[in-house]
Amino acid sequence: MVDFADTAEQASFRADVRQFLGDNLPPVLTVRPDDDRQEYEDPNSERAKALDQWREKLVERGWIAPAWPKEYGGADLSPMEQFILNETFAETRSPRLGVPDVGSTIMVHGSEEQQKEFLPPMVTGEARWCQGYSEPGSGSDLASLQTRAIRDGDDFIINGQKIWTSGAHVANMIFALVRTDPEAPKHRGISYLLFSMESPGITVRPLEQIHGASGFNEVFFEDVRVPAKNVVGEVNRGWYVGATHLDFERSSIGLAVGQVLMLDSLRDYLLEEEEADSGKSAMSRSDQARADFADRYIEANVARTLSQRVISMQARGEIPNYEASMTKVFSTEFTQRIARTATKLLGKYGELRDREGDYSQMRGRWSTMYLSSISSTIGGGTSEIQRNVIATRGLGLPRG
Ligand SMILES: Cc1cc2nc3c(=O)[nH]c(=O)nc-3n(C[C@H](O)[C@H](O)[C@H](O)COP(=O)(O)OP(=O)(O)OC[C@H]3O[C@@H](n4cnc5c(N)ncnc54)[C@H](O)[C@@H]3O)c2cc1C
Repeated sequence: MVDFADTAEQASFRADVRQFLGDNLPPVLTVRPDDDRQEYEDPNSERAKALDQWREKLVERGWIAPAWPKEYGGADLSPMEQFILNETFAETRSPRLGVPDVGSTIMVHGSEEQQKEFLPPMVTGEARWCQGYSEPGSGSDLASLQTRAIRDGDDFIINGQKIWTSGAHVANMIFALVRTDPEAPKHRGISYLLFSMESPGITVRPLEQIHGASGFNEVFFEDVRVPAKNVVGEVNRGWYVGATHLDFERSSIGLAVGQVLMLDSLRDYLLEEEEADSGKSAMSRSDQARADFADRYIEANVARTLSQRVISMQARGEIPNYEASMTKVFSTEFTQRIARTATKLLGKYGELRDREGDYSQMRGRWSTMYLSSISSTIGGGTSEIQRNVIATRGLGLPRG
Protein backbone atom coordinates (compact mmCIF):
# COMPACT_ATOMS: atom_id res chain seq x y z
CA MET A 1 0.00 0.00 0.00
CA VAL A 2 1.28 3.52 -0.78
CA ASP A 3 1.00 5.81 2.25
CA PHE A 4 1.31 9.51 1.46
CA ALA A 5 1.22 10.58 5.11
CA ASP A 6 4.41 11.76 6.85
CA THR A 7 6.25 9.35 9.10
CA ALA A 8 6.87 10.62 12.65
CA GLU A 9 10.38 11.73 11.63
CA GLN A 10 9.14 13.53 8.53
CA ALA A 11 6.41 15.28 10.56
CA SER A 12 8.99 16.44 13.06
CA PHE A 13 11.26 17.72 10.27
CA ARG A 14 8.30 19.56 8.70
CA ALA A 15 7.51 21.20 12.07
CA ASP A 16 11.17 22.22 12.45
CA VAL A 17 11.20 23.87 9.01
CA ARG A 18 7.95 25.70 9.75
CA GLN A 19 9.27 26.94 13.09
CA PHE A 20 12.50 28.19 11.48
CA LEU A 21 10.60 30.06 8.77
CA GLY A 22 8.16 31.55 11.30
CA ASP A 23 11.03 32.79 13.47
CA ASN A 24 13.38 34.06 10.76
CA LEU A 25 11.69 35.15 7.53
CA PRO A 26 11.72 38.99 7.19
CA PRO A 27 8.20 40.17 6.17
CA VAL A 28 9.60 42.10 3.17
CA LEU A 29 10.48 38.75 1.63
CA THR A 30 7.10 37.02 1.93
CA VAL A 31 5.85 36.37 -1.57
CA ARG A 32 2.50 38.11 -2.19
CA PRO A 33 -0.33 35.56 -2.49
CA ASP A 34 -1.75 37.42 -5.50
CA ASP A 35 1.58 37.90 -7.27
CA ASP A 36 4.46 35.46 -7.11
CA ARG A 37 6.35 36.76 -10.12
CA GLN A 38 10.07 36.87 -9.57
CA GLU A 39 12.30 39.08 -11.61
CA TYR A 40 16.00 39.61 -11.84
CA GLU A 41 16.50 41.60 -8.68
CA ASP A 42 17.94 45.14 -8.60
CA PRO A 43 20.94 44.48 -6.29
CA ASN A 44 20.38 47.80 -4.45
CA SER A 45 16.71 47.27 -3.58
CA GLU A 46 15.57 46.69 0.00
CA ARG A 47 14.34 43.25 -1.03
CA ALA A 48 17.70 42.30 -2.56
CA LYS A 49 19.51 43.30 0.64
CA ALA A 50 17.06 41.30 2.76
CA LEU A 51 17.58 38.37 0.39
CA ASP A 52 21.34 38.47 1.06
CA GLN A 53 20.70 38.24 4.81
CA TRP A 54 18.15 35.49 4.24
CA ARG A 55 20.74 33.56 2.26
CA GLU A 56 23.16 33.75 5.19
CA LYS A 57 20.54 32.23 7.49
CA LEU A 58 19.83 29.41 5.03
CA VAL A 59 23.56 28.82 4.51
CA GLU A 60 23.91 28.22 8.27
CA ARG A 61 21.30 25.47 8.02
CA GLY A 62 22.72 23.99 4.81
CA TRP A 63 19.31 24.56 3.17
CA ILE A 64 20.56 26.32 0.05
CA ALA A 65 21.78 22.96 -1.28
CA PRO A 66 19.99 20.55 1.04
CA ALA A 67 20.96 17.45 -0.96
CA TRP A 68 24.70 18.12 -0.87
CA PRO A 69 27.17 16.78 1.67
CA LYS A 70 27.85 19.10 4.57
CA GLU A 71 31.49 19.66 3.49
CA TYR A 72 30.21 21.52 0.39
CA GLY A 73 27.70 23.60 2.35
CA GLY A 74 24.75 21.20 2.08
CA ALA A 75 22.61 19.51 4.73
CA ASP A 76 22.76 15.88 3.50
CA LEU A 77 18.95 15.68 3.45
CA SER A 78 17.17 12.69 1.91
CA PRO A 79 15.08 13.37 -1.25
CA MET A 80 11.87 13.14 0.85
CA GLU A 81 13.21 15.69 3.34
CA GLN A 82 14.14 17.96 0.42
CA PHE A 83 10.59 17.62 -0.87
CA ILE A 84 9.19 18.53 2.56
CA LEU A 85 11.56 21.51 2.71
CA ASN A 86 10.39 22.71 -0.73
CA GLU A 87 6.76 22.16 0.17
CA THR A 88 6.99 24.04 3.46
CA PHE A 89 8.80 26.97 1.83
CA ALA A 90 6.09 27.14 -0.84
CA GLU A 91 3.22 26.82 1.64
CA THR A 92 4.58 29.65 3.78
CA ARG A 93 5.42 31.70 0.66
CA SER A 94 9.07 31.92 1.66
CA PRO A 95 11.70 32.48 -1.03
CA ARG A 96 13.54 29.23 -1.60
CA LEU A 97 17.07 30.14 -2.62
CA GLY A 98 18.82 27.24 -4.27
CA VAL A 99 21.84 26.19 -6.27
CA PRO A 100 21.87 25.86 -10.06
CA ASP A 101 21.47 22.40 -11.61
CA VAL A 102 25.08 22.57 -12.82
CA GLY A 103 26.01 21.90 -9.17
CA SER A 104 24.31 18.49 -9.26
CA THR A 105 26.12 17.74 -12.54
CA ILE A 106 29.50 18.64 -11.02
CA MET A 107 28.58 16.48 -8.04
CA VAL A 108 28.05 13.49 -10.38
CA HIS A 109 30.75 14.03 -13.04
CA GLY A 110 33.21 16.59 -11.64
CA SER A 111 36.60 15.83 -10.09
CA GLU A 112 37.08 16.40 -6.37
CA GLU A 113 39.16 19.47 -7.21
CA GLN A 114 36.30 20.88 -9.33
CA GLN A 115 33.78 20.12 -6.59
CA LYS A 116 35.90 21.98 -4.03
CA GLU A 117 36.42 24.95 -6.35
CA PHE A 118 32.95 25.38 -7.86
CA LEU A 119 30.36 24.10 -5.37
CA PRO A 120 30.82 26.29 -2.25
CA PRO A 121 30.49 29.64 -4.14
CA MET A 122 27.13 28.40 -5.52
CA VAL A 123 25.89 28.04 -1.94
CA THR A 124 27.06 31.47 -0.81
CA GLY A 125 25.66 33.10 -3.96
CA GLU A 126 29.03 34.47 -5.07
CA ALA A 127 28.82 32.39 -8.25
CA ARG A 128 25.87 33.15 -10.55
CA TRP A 129 25.75 30.63 -13.39
CA CYS A 130 24.23 30.58 -16.83
CA GLN A 131 23.84 27.74 -19.31
CA GLY A 132 25.55 27.91 -22.71
CA TYR A 133 23.98 25.10 -24.71
CA SER A 134 21.73 26.47 -27.50
CA GLU A 135 23.11 28.14 -30.61
CA PRO A 136 21.32 29.89 -33.47
CA GLY A 137 21.41 26.66 -35.55
CA SER A 138 21.32 24.14 -32.68
CA GLY A 139 18.39 23.86 -30.28
CA SER A 140 16.52 20.57 -30.37
CA ASP A 141 19.35 19.11 -32.42
CA LEU A 142 21.79 20.27 -29.78
CA ALA A 143 24.54 17.83 -30.78
CA SER A 144 25.03 19.82 -34.02
CA LEU A 145 26.48 22.74 -32.02
CA GLN A 146 29.38 24.62 -33.62
CA THR A 147 31.05 26.70 -30.88
CA ARG A 148 34.64 25.61 -31.23
CA ALA A 149 37.24 24.99 -28.50
CA ILE A 150 40.83 24.41 -29.66
CA ARG A 151 43.51 23.16 -27.30
CA ASP A 152 46.46 25.51 -26.76
CA GLY A 153 48.88 24.35 -24.06
CA ASP A 154 47.03 24.21 -20.72
CA ASP A 155 44.04 26.09 -22.15
CA PHE A 156 41.22 25.86 -24.65
CA ILE A 157 40.51 28.83 -26.92
CA ILE A 158 36.82 29.32 -27.61
CA ASN A 159 35.14 30.97 -30.60
CA GLY A 160 31.43 30.94 -31.46
CA GLN A 161 27.99 32.01 -30.27
CA LYS A 162 25.32 30.88 -27.85
CA ILE A 163 21.71 32.09 -27.76
CA TRP A 164 18.72 32.10 -25.36
CA THR A 165 21.23 32.14 -22.49
CA SER A 166 19.02 32.84 -19.45
CA GLY A 167 20.53 35.21 -16.93
CA ALA A 168 23.81 35.71 -18.86
CA HIS A 169 23.51 39.47 -18.25
CA VAL A 170 23.78 38.93 -14.47
CA ALA A 171 25.92 35.77 -14.44
CA ASN A 172 29.61 35.61 -13.61
CA MET A 173 30.07 31.93 -14.55
CA ILE A 174 28.94 29.77 -17.47
CA PHE A 175 28.83 26.04 -18.19
CA ALA A 176 28.93 25.44 -21.90
CA LEU A 177 28.94 22.65 -24.45
CA VAL A 178 31.68 23.22 -27.02
CA ARG A 179 33.03 21.26 -29.99
CA THR A 180 36.49 19.89 -29.28
CA ASP A 181 36.66 17.36 -32.16
CA PRO A 182 34.96 18.42 -35.42
CA GLU A 183 35.98 15.16 -37.17
CA ALA A 184 34.26 12.80 -34.70
CA PRO A 185 30.56 11.77 -34.98
CA LYS A 186 28.59 14.76 -33.67
CA HIS A 187 27.77 13.39 -30.17
CA ARG A 188 31.38 12.31 -29.60
CA GLY A 189 33.27 15.56 -30.27
CA ILE A 190 31.69 17.73 -27.56
CA SER A 191 33.12 18.78 -24.19
CA TYR A 192 31.48 20.33 -21.12
CA LEU A 193 33.40 23.39 -19.94
CA LEU A 194 33.13 25.71 -16.92
CA PHE A 195 34.46 29.26 -17.13
CA SER A 196 34.15 32.82 -15.94
CA MET A 197 31.82 35.21 -17.76
CA GLU A 198 34.39 37.87 -16.93
CA SER A 199 36.96 36.20 -19.25
CA PRO A 200 38.23 38.59 -21.96
CA GLY A 201 36.49 38.07 -25.32
CA ILE A 202 32.89 37.50 -24.09
CA THR A 203 30.09 39.83 -25.25
CA VAL A 204 26.52 39.56 -23.89
CA ARG A 205 23.56 41.04 -25.78
CA PRO A 206 20.12 40.91 -24.04
CA LEU A 207 16.99 39.79 -25.98
CA GLU A 208 13.55 41.21 -25.20
CA GLN A 209 10.72 38.73 -24.55
CA ILE A 210 7.00 38.78 -25.38
CA HIS A 211 6.02 39.81 -21.80
CA GLY A 212 8.42 42.75 -21.80
CA ALA A 213 11.18 41.34 -19.56
CA SER A 214 14.69 40.60 -20.75
CA GLY A 215 15.66 37.33 -19.12
CA PHE A 216 17.80 35.87 -21.85
CA ASN A 217 20.63 36.83 -24.14
CA GLU A 218 22.96 36.19 -27.02
CA VAL A 219 26.52 35.44 -25.91
CA PHE A 220 29.50 35.79 -28.26
CA PHE A 221 32.96 34.26 -27.71
CA GLU A 222 36.02 35.65 -29.42
CA ASP A 223 39.32 33.91 -28.57
CA VAL A 224 38.20 33.25 -24.99
CA ARG A 225 40.92 31.43 -23.06
CA VAL A 226 39.71 28.76 -20.60
CA PRO A 227 41.87 26.42 -18.45
CA ALA A 228 41.66 22.84 -19.78
CA LYS A 229 41.31 21.59 -16.19
CA ASN A 230 37.78 23.07 -16.26
CA VAL A 231 36.48 20.32 -18.55
CA VAL A 232 33.94 18.27 -16.58
CA GLY A 233 34.32 14.54 -17.27
CA GLU A 234 36.44 13.49 -20.25
CA VAL A 235 37.27 15.66 -23.24
CA ASN A 236 34.92 14.76 -26.15
CA ARG A 237 32.50 12.96 -23.77
CA GLY A 238 30.71 16.14 -22.71
CA TRP A 239 27.47 15.18 -24.43
CA TYR A 240 26.79 12.62 -21.71
CA VAL A 241 27.67 15.11 -18.95
CA GLY A 242 25.31 17.64 -20.56
CA ALA A 243 22.55 15.02 -20.73
CA THR A 244 22.80 14.42 -16.96
CA HIS A 245 22.37 18.14 -16.50
CA LEU A 246 19.18 18.12 -18.59
CA ASP A 247 17.78 15.22 -16.54
CA PHE A 248 18.19 17.33 -13.39
CA GLU A 249 16.80 20.44 -15.11
CA ARG A 250 13.72 18.63 -16.42
CA SER A 251 12.72 16.90 -13.21
CA SER A 252 10.75 20.07 -12.18
CA ILE A 253 10.11 18.63 -8.72
CA GLY A 254 9.70 22.02 -7.14
CA LEU A 255 6.79 23.10 -9.34
CA ALA A 256 3.88 21.03 -8.06
CA VAL A 257 3.33 22.72 -4.69
CA GLY A 258 3.52 26.18 -6.21
CA GLN A 259 0.85 25.21 -8.73
CA VAL A 260 -1.60 24.22 -5.98
CA LEU A 261 -0.92 27.54 -4.24
CA MET A 262 -1.56 29.45 -7.46
CA LEU A 263 -4.93 27.73 -7.77
CA ASP A 264 -5.72 28.46 -4.12
CA SER A 265 -5.01 32.15 -4.57
CA LEU A 266 -7.19 32.29 -7.68
CA ARG A 267 -10.05 30.51 -5.91
CA ASP A 268 -9.82 32.90 -2.91
CA TYR A 269 -9.87 35.91 -5.21
CA LEU A 270 -12.88 34.63 -7.16
CA LEU A 271 -14.76 33.82 -3.95
CA GLU A 272 -14.11 37.36 -2.66
CA GLU A 273 -15.38 38.72 -5.95
CA GLU A 274 -18.44 36.52 -5.67
CA GLU A 275 -19.15 37.80 -2.16
CA ALA A 276 -18.73 41.43 -3.22
CA ASP A 277 -20.94 41.06 -6.26
CA SER A 278 -23.19 38.11 -5.47
CA GLY A 279 -23.88 35.75 -8.35
CA LYS A 280 -21.86 37.70 -10.89
CA SER A 281 -18.54 35.90 -10.87
CA ALA A 282 -17.71 33.42 -13.60
CA MET A 283 -17.60 30.69 -10.96
CA SER A 284 -21.28 31.02 -10.12
CA ARG A 285 -22.46 31.72 -13.69
CA SER A 286 -20.99 28.74 -15.42
CA ASP A 287 -20.90 24.99 -14.84
CA GLN A 288 -18.07 24.87 -17.35
CA ALA A 289 -15.99 27.33 -15.29
CA ARG A 290 -16.37 25.21 -12.16
CA ALA A 291 -15.56 22.04 -14.11
CA ASP A 292 -12.43 23.64 -15.62
CA PHE A 293 -11.30 24.72 -12.19
CA ALA A 294 -11.86 21.22 -10.76
CA ASP A 295 -9.85 19.77 -13.66
CA ARG A 296 -6.90 21.98 -12.80
CA TYR A 297 -7.00 20.70 -9.17
CA ILE A 298 -7.01 17.10 -10.40
CA GLU A 299 -4.01 17.92 -12.59
CA ALA A 300 -2.20 19.56 -9.67
CA ASN A 301 -2.45 16.27 -7.82
CA VAL A 302 -1.18 14.33 -10.85
CA ALA A 303 1.79 16.74 -11.03
CA ARG A 304 2.56 16.14 -7.37
CA THR A 305 2.47 12.36 -7.82
CA LEU A 306 4.77 12.53 -10.86
CA SER A 307 7.22 14.59 -8.79
CA GLN A 308 7.08 12.03 -6.00
CA ARG A 309 8.06 9.31 -8.47
CA VAL A 310 11.12 11.34 -9.50
CA ILE A 311 11.98 11.88 -5.83
CA SER A 312 11.68 8.19 -5.02
CA MET A 313 14.09 7.42 -7.90
CA GLN A 314 16.56 9.98 -6.59
CA ALA A 315 16.22 8.42 -3.14
CA ARG A 316 17.39 5.13 -4.67
CA GLY A 317 20.41 6.92 -6.16
CA GLU A 318 19.04 6.79 -9.73
CA ILE A 319 19.04 9.69 -12.19
CA PRO A 320 15.53 10.05 -13.64
CA ASN A 321 15.54 10.21 -17.42
CA TYR A 322 12.27 9.72 -19.34
CA GLU A 323 10.52 10.08 -15.95
CA ALA A 324 11.95 13.62 -15.74
CA SER A 325 10.67 14.26 -19.29
CA MET A 326 7.18 13.11 -18.25
CA THR A 327 7.20 15.49 -15.29
CA LYS A 328 8.46 18.33 -17.47
CA VAL A 329 5.85 17.91 -20.22
CA PHE A 330 3.03 17.58 -17.73
CA SER A 331 4.03 20.41 -15.38
CA THR A 332 4.78 22.96 -18.10
CA GLU A 333 1.69 22.22 -20.20
CA PHE A 334 -0.34 22.24 -16.99
CA THR A 335 1.00 25.71 -16.12
CA GLN A 336 -0.30 26.90 -19.50
CA ARG A 337 -3.72 25.38 -18.77
CA ILE A 338 -3.82 27.10 -15.35
CA ALA A 339 -3.07 30.46 -17.01
CA ARG A 340 -5.74 29.85 -19.67
CA THR A 341 -8.37 28.87 -17.09
CA ALA A 342 -7.50 31.88 -14.91
CA THR A 343 -7.65 34.47 -17.70
CA LYS A 344 -10.95 32.99 -18.86
CA LEU A 345 -12.44 33.14 -15.36
CA LEU A 346 -11.26 36.71 -14.74
CA GLY A 347 -12.91 37.98 -17.92
CA LYS A 348 -11.83 40.97 -19.95
CA TYR A 349 -9.94 42.80 -17.15
CA GLY A 350 -7.97 39.61 -16.55
CA GLU A 351 -6.00 40.47 -19.65
CA LEU A 352 -4.44 43.63 -18.16
CA ARG A 353 -0.84 43.19 -17.16
CA ASP A 354 -0.09 46.40 -15.27
CA ARG A 355 0.74 45.50 -11.65
CA GLU A 356 -0.53 48.77 -10.19
CA GLY A 357 -3.37 49.49 -12.68
CA ASP A 358 -6.85 50.34 -11.26
CA TYR A 359 -8.54 47.68 -13.34
CA SER A 360 -5.81 45.03 -13.20
CA GLN A 361 -6.91 41.84 -11.48
CA MET A 362 -4.53 40.11 -9.11
CA ARG A 363 -1.87 42.62 -10.20
CA GLY A 364 -1.95 41.34 -13.76
CA ARG A 365 -0.34 38.10 -12.66
CA TRP A 366 -2.35 35.72 -14.85
CA SER A 367 -2.06 37.55 -18.15
CA THR A 368 1.71 37.79 -17.59
CA MET A 369 1.78 34.09 -16.83
CA TYR A 370 -0.33 33.37 -19.91
CA LEU A 371 2.47 34.88 -21.99
CA SER A 372 5.48 33.71 -19.99
CA SER A 373 4.25 30.10 -19.71
CA ILE A 374 4.48 29.70 -23.47
CA SER A 375 8.24 29.51 -23.20
CA SER A 376 8.22 26.86 -20.47
CA THR A 377 7.34 24.15 -23.00
CA ILE A 378 10.39 25.21 -25.07
CA GLY A 379 13.19 25.89 -22.53
CA GLY A 380 15.10 22.81 -21.31
CA GLY A 381 13.97 20.93 -24.46
CA THR A 382 10.59 21.31 -26.17
CA SER A 383 7.52 19.20 -25.39
CA GLU A 384 7.97 17.43 -28.75
CA ILE A 385 11.51 16.43 -27.81
CA GLN A 386 10.36 15.25 -24.35
CA ARG A 387 7.69 13.11 -26.03
CA ASN A 388 10.39 11.64 -28.31
CA VAL A 389 12.44 10.77 -25.19
CA ILE A 390 9.44 9.15 -23.48
CA ALA A 391 8.52 7.19 -26.64
CA THR A 392 12.01 5.90 -27.43
CA ARG A 393 13.87 5.65 -24.11
CA GLY A 394 10.81 5.09 -21.91
CA LEU A 395 8.59 2.91 -24.07
CA GLY A 396 11.16 1.33 -26.38
CA LEU A 397 9.40 2.57 -29.54
CA PRO A 398 11.58 2.85 -32.68
CA ARG A 399 13.22 6.17 -33.63
CA GLY A 400 11.68 7.91 -36.65
C1 LIG B 1 12.53 30.56 -21.50
C2 LIG B 1 13.67 29.88 -22.18
C3 LIG B 1 14.89 29.83 -21.55
C4 LIG B 1 15.96 29.23 -22.19
N1 LIG B 1 17.16 29.23 -21.54
C5 LIG B 1 18.22 28.68 -22.14
C6 LIG B 1 19.51 28.74 -21.52
O1 LIG B 1 19.68 29.28 -20.43
N2 LIG B 1 20.55 28.19 -22.16
C7 LIG B 1 20.42 27.56 -23.36
O2 LIG B 1 21.40 27.02 -23.86
N3 LIG B 1 19.22 27.51 -24.01
C8 LIG B 1 18.12 28.07 -23.42
N4 LIG B 1 16.91 28.05 -24.06
C9 LIG B 1 16.83 27.51 -25.41
C10 LIG B 1 16.07 26.19 -25.50
O3 LIG B 1 16.80 25.13 -24.94
C11 LIG B 1 15.75 25.96 -27.00
O4 LIG B 1 14.89 27.01 -27.41
C12 LIG B 1 15.06 24.64 -27.23
O5 LIG B 1 15.93 23.57 -26.99
C13 LIG B 1 14.50 24.53 -28.66
O6 LIG B 1 15.46 24.86 -29.61
P1 LIG B 1 15.15 25.94 -30.77
O7 LIG B 1 14.61 27.16 -30.13
O8 LIG B 1 16.36 26.05 -31.60
O9 LIG B 1 13.97 25.30 -31.63
P2 LIG B 1 14.11 24.21 -32.78
O10 LIG B 1 14.99 23.10 -32.32
O11 LIG B 1 14.45 24.88 -34.05
O12 LIG B 1 12.64 23.66 -32.84
C14 LIG B 1 11.57 24.29 -33.56
C15 LIG B 1 10.34 23.42 -33.47
O13 LIG B 1 10.57 22.15 -34.11
C16 LIG B 1 10.28 21.08 -33.23
N5 LIG B 1 11.23 19.97 -33.42
C17 LIG B 1 12.57 20.10 -33.61
N6 LIG B 1 13.11 18.85 -33.73
C18 LIG B 1 12.12 17.95 -33.58
C19 LIG B 1 12.04 16.52 -33.59
N7 LIG B 1 13.14 15.77 -33.75
N8 LIG B 1 10.83 15.93 -33.39
C20 LIG B 1 9.70 16.69 -33.21
N9 LIG B 1 9.71 18.05 -33.21
C21 LIG B 1 10.89 18.67 -33.38
C22 LIG B 1 10.48 21.67 -31.84
O14 LIG B 1 9.75 20.94 -30.85
C23 LIG B 1 9.95 23.09 -32.02
O15 LIG B 1 8.55 23.11 -31.91
C24 LIG B 1 15.82 28.65 -23.46
C25 LIG B 1 14.58 28.71 -24.11
C26 LIG B 1 13.52 29.33 -23.48
C27 LIG B 1 12.22 29.39 -24.20
